[in-house]
Amino acid sequence: MANYVPSVGMEVHAELATRSKMFCRCPVAFGGEPNTRVCPICLGLPGTLPVPNRAAIEMVLRTSLALNCKIAMRSVFHRKNYFYPDLPKGYQVSQYGETNPLGYHGYLDIPTSSGGIKRIQITRVHLEEDTGKLMHLPAGGSGVDYNRAGTPLMEIVTAFPPDIQDAEEAKEYLQQLRQILLYLGVCDGKMEEGSLRCEPNISVRIEGAEKLGTKSELKNLNSFRSVQLGVGFEVRRQIATLEHGEKVLQETRGWNEQKEASYPMRLKEAENDYRYFPDPDLVPMVFEESYIESLRASLPELPLAKVRRYQEALGLSTYDAGVLTADRDWAIFFEEAIALGGDAKTVCNWMNSDFAKLLNDAGITAAESKVTPGHIVELTKLIADGTINGKMAKEIFAEAFKSGRNPTDIVKERGATQMTDTGEILKIVHSVFEANQEVVTKYRSGNVGVKGFLVGQVMRQTAGRANPQLVQTVVSEELEK
Ligand SMILES: [Zn+2]
Repeated sequence: MANYVPSVGMEVHAELATRSKMFCRCPVAFGGEPNTRVCPICLGLPGTLPVPNRAAIEMVLRTSLALNCKIAMRSVFHRKNYFYPDLPKGYQVSQYGETNPLGYHGYLDIPTSSGGIKRIQITRVHLEEDTGKLMHLPAGGSGVDYNRAGTPLMEIVTAFPPDIQDAEEAKEYLQQLRQILLYLGVCDGKMEEGSLRCEPNISVRIEGAEKLGTKSELKNLNSFRSVQLGVGFEVRRQIATLEHGEKVLQETRGWNEQKEASYPMRLKEAENDYRYFPDPDLVPMVFEESYIESLRASLPELPLAKVRRYQEALGLSTYDAGVLTADRDWAIFFEEAIALGGDAKTVCNWMNSDFAKLLNDAGITAAESKVTPGHIVELTKLIADGTINGKMAKEIFAEAFKSGRNPTDIVKERGATQMTDTGEILKIVHSVFEANQEVVTKYRSGNVGVKGFLVGQVMRQTAGRANPQLVQTVVSEELEK
């Protein structure tokens, strides 16, 4: 079998998290009764005039800057003309051209499995409006719901020829992109609700061949997993087709989640001619340099930059840094704890274990919980200065999680300070030895493994309050006597 090289282009649509639609004041939301969030403008009735949503334009500009794009300082909207029932106007407002989209010629760096970085070139980030949704009616026939029609939609397209070469990179690209959109607060990123949609196009060619192979486009991918599985499936299917001496067809294929297989939807015999032309109802968008620079200055630190900083400045592992930065609020919580004097690794451990578990069990986010960064720092200091041990800290943290009270107060109220008085511990060690004389004898006749049992008994007698290291030392000393 020849060696094949896959190429994967990614077309991602993100519904913008604006309150209202792109050209009217209808609210943007998911679901609801069909055709309840519509007006003459988004239904495209004659005599209406669209007014662009400024917030949506700003979101696309900020995303473009975060994706290292050039900005079109003068950018126009075009009409993309085609007939389909989900498109009430008979055209979709979109942006056409090489340097006309709000953002163009950018890139996104993704981490590779070998620990390096791969740069994925992006050709355009443009603004358009979403279509309505066709639906099958229970009584038979089809209906159309225009609630989604006119929702601001951002399209992000990778450059040609594609840099992405396998399913893993395709998934990684989408994950990084989604994280950036969430950090920017421009999209809720819900693939299962369709607010983030990905249509990869896939082709394979024999290694060394200059020309790219015929590509197929995949639709209906509603999770990272399906993107990864779908791209992997298409690569294998196309290679098998070529190996059989057959041709790969240029077609749009759907993804069947249950069967984990793609199926043909429609052939693409020629590129559609959409007769793009500038929308005469919409004036060109013209931006001042100072406005763009102010947007650039207001960008948050992005996930990959955070990961690098956590590794280099705070000494965290790639894994820890990745978990902390996966969610922006989580990263901010961590950074606030560090600003309050918390030790990076210790705070990270508490957040990613006990805190994450309690949040998960309660089904809430860090911001919704009663625990503050200060609580975690206080807790780690109580452990560090020997006031409490690790086991007590877990209980105190659980209590702080429930009540929102600060750890120092809980420790005081419970009288739950750690037992560090050697004399006191020695008394308990003696009583444990007396109650377990045969174990002590075993140890002294060479079975040193039983020491753990004795240490455990002492800890139990103190209800877990004794300093564990101290107990270890005292028990060892007494056994050697
Ligand atoms: Zn409307």
